[in-house]
Amino acid sequence: MKLSPSQFWRIRESQYRLIITECGSCGRKSVFKRSVCPFCGSSNVKHVESEGFGKVLDVTKVMYRWNSSDERPPLLVGVVELDEGVRVVGEIVGVGDNEEVKEGTRVEAVLRRYASDDPYGVIYYGIKFKPIKTA
Ligand SMILES: [Zn+2]
Repeated sequence: MKLSPSQFWRIRESQYRLIITECGSCGRKSVFKRSVCPFCGSSNVKHVESEGFGKVLDVTKVMYRWNSSDERPPLLVGVVELDEGVRVVGEIVGVGDNEEVKEGTRVEAVLRRYASDDPYGVIYYGIKFKPIKTA
C-alpha cells in the first residue's frame, strides 16, 4: 500500500474497524461505511460495527510479492462472509503448516501489519482474518 500518512489518516476508520451500512429503506446490508445505500440509493442508512466473525467462502494462494518487505509469498487471500451477512476480501493469517483453510472455515478479524517499507517510515496496520481454532 502506497499512501501518504495523511491519506492513511483519512481512511483509518475503515482500516481498523469493519463497518457495515444497513439500509433503512430496502433493508440490505453492505460492507464499509457509506452515506448512501449501494443497492437502492437511499440515504436512510445506519452504521454498525461487525463483531468480526465469519466463514470463508473461497480462498486462493497468492504468489506475488506486494512489497519488498514481504517475507512471503505465498499468502492466502479469501472471501469471507461475516456473520452479519456481508462479504469482504482479506488476507488469511495464522495458518499452521498442517492446517487447511477451505470453504466453511470459521475465521475472526484481527489487526495485523500491512506494510512497513513506506518511505515516510509509517507502519501500516489493517484487518486480516485468522482461523478460529476449534480443537
Ligand atoms: Zn437500500
